[in-house]
Amino acid sequence: MSTGIRVTVWNEGVHEKELPRCKELYPDGMGRAIGRYLEKQPGIASVRCVELDDPDQGLSDDILDTTDVMTWWGHCAHDRVTDENAAKVQDRVLNGMGLVVLHSGHMSKPFRRLMGTGCMLKWREWRGVGERERLWVVDPAHPIADGIPEYIEIPHAEMYGEHFDVPQPDQLVFISWFQGGDVFRSGCCWHRGLGKVFYFRPGHETFPIYHQEEVLEVIRNGAKWAAPTRVRGGVQRGNIEPPLEQIS
Ligand code: ZN
Repeated sequence: MSTGIRVTVWNEGVHEKELPRCKELYPDGMGRAIGRYLEKQPGIASVRCVELDDPDQGLSDDILDTTDVMTWWGHCAHDRVTDENAAKVQDRVLNGMGLVVLHSGHMSKPFRRLMGTGCMLKWREWRGVGERERLWVVDPAHPIADGIPEYIEIPHAEMYGEHFDVPQPDQLVFISWFQGGDVFRSGCCWHRGLGKVFYFRPGHETFPIYHQEEVLEVIRNGAKWAAPTRVRGGVQRGNIEPPLEQIS
């Protein structure tokens, strides 16, 4: 049995085909930029990059069966992900698969199903150049903050602001400050069933954010945190008899 985690990087892959700036920044796609970094990291056994236009939308049972953690980037084609596939991803998370949702993935079908709320937020892409963002670590003891500086500065970012319509996170790791005065809960953790979900805000199709080392480090830490916790024996769900202790 492999000792590391098996990561599947799911990328919508639409902007890369349509936006010249996106193609220039990510010639082989944002997913591969993330995947290339992750595959070199200790503790990660394998990385597979899939896209919406792949067979079965990159979400076949075969792929899901061999995924410990999935990262998800989507924006303009959330609706093209079938309800059946979104339900499959949700079900996998409830049964232990980790999910790291990036940037505009906040409106993806799997994330919204897992949150149960609208997941909408405020945004601003200031005059095409964006604005400065600082992501402050607000839980330095959290495993996702391991090795991360006190704050990460992104020179040009699309602003996401509160209110972010998600359930209160179980753990909050980052809060962003933006040059325009807004703040945002940028690194949020939830437990869902047997699985874990990490939402991480940075990333936009026309900014080189997935080439920034600290951002990739957080994605790696998020994938490691979200990896399944394997229970040793026992019955997790369902009828159990006899009881552990004598009842009568
Ligand atoms: Zn964006």
